[in-house]
Amino acid sequence: MTYTYLIKYAEIALKGKNRHIFEEALVKQIRHALRPIDGEFEVRRAQGRIYVDASKDADDDEVIDALKHVFGIVGICPVESLADDDFDGICKAAVEHMGRNYPDREGLTFKVESRRARKDYFKDSMEINADVGEAILEAYPELKVDVHHPDVSLYIEVRETISIYSKVIPGPGGMPVGTSGKAMLLLSGGIDSPVAGYMIAKRGVKIDAVYFHAPPYTSERAKQKVVDLARIVSAYTGPIYLHVINFTDIQMYIYQKCPHDELTIIMRRFMMRIAQTIAEETGSMGLVTGESIGQVASQTMQSLACTDAVCEMPVYRPLIGFDKNDIVDISKKIETFETSILPYEDCCTIFVAKHPVTKPKLDIIERHEHNLDEDIDRLVKTALDTDEVIIVK
Ligand code: ATP
Ligand code: MG
Repeated sequence: MTYTYLIKYAEIALKGKNRHIFEEALVKQIRHALRPIDGEFEVRRAQGRIYVDASKDADDDEVIDALKHVFGIVGICPVESLADDDFDGICKAAVEHMGRNYPDREGLTFKVESRRARKDYFKDSMEINADVGEAILEAYPELKVDVHHPDVSLYIEVRETISIYSKVIPGPGGMPVGTSGKAMLLLSGGIDSPVAGYMIAKRGVKIDAVYFHAPPYTSERAKQKVVDLARIVSAYTGPIYLHVINFTDIQMYIYQKCPHDELTIIMRRFMMRIAQTIAEETGSMGLVTGESIGQVASQTMQSLACTDAVCEMPVYRPLIGFDKNDIVDISKKIETFETSILPYEDCCTIFVAKHPVTKPKLDIIERHEHNLDEDIDRLVKTALDTDEVIIVK
């Protein structure tokens, strides 16, 4: 026997051609998620369903864990899959399923819920429910039928093959990565930006990332931490092209030439400009950050307006309305939290002023940026020319 998983997906109220694209992307992401796992897997589409056949040596928990990382999946059902539609065989498999999965049967209630997608099958779904139910009761008289609030619903799907299952393990939902274009995530080593990347990818967006590194003020360990975060996120998103930009000279130059209370905001404008240039060159249609209104001085409405002023492509901020607590909860769920809180320095904190402006005015910021005219283009060009690309997977 092979082990088969029926994959449930929603949001496929999407019609026509979109449905096809959605399913193909989902199959591709499922294959990607299963690649690191021991065993052999066949992912197949049949009659509006996706099935994963796993070889015997595959570990059930590992398979389910991998599938829980695939956006677009709403439910994972381990099924008994029968090639033969012989009715006695169905009853036997149903009885075995109940016996194996529910060893404590005393007083357990159940119902059979069948769906006949093949109208030529010789029993209709009402008959299947009744007859399989009877076979189960005969084998296990200690069970009881409850059609309204059963402890166990046993599903039987009669299609090209027969699927029998009773467990629906929740998937992450969302849309398969690759169905909604690509965006460039500004990924720092903090708590927020990995979560922002996860959230945008959950809507089907493929992500690349850029990290602004400031050696020797930020260490190799700080950079490694960002690579590690990208790796955790890539379990959901697929491979991430991480661009590491050496930001030191730009930062120092701003520090020399501009008022210190405007440092963070001017720095962030240069991050956005550089991220946008890379995005344009690599096919991303938007930028993604981990900002949320009011969290710090550089995230007031006024500051966000000043950062946005340099962007010609949309900036997506999936966490904009989230409290820190909510963001922390998600980061724990997706397992980036423990890495995010490692205490390595961040390039933004090193030159930070004691009292940064919280209500920057765009005209003033722009005027002060002119102090940089002499050298900034050259420094930005050098930073872009020395972009180090790490493929994280
Ligand atoms: P995070 O937890 O994501 O670091 P934060 O609360 O520390 O966010 P800021 O430091 O103001 O907030 O950064 C805001 C956003 O700017 C980050 O969420 C991230 O998208 C981007 N960002 C900040 N620093 C860097 C960096 N060194 N490299 C790339 N992106 C950065
Ligand atoms: Mg940060």
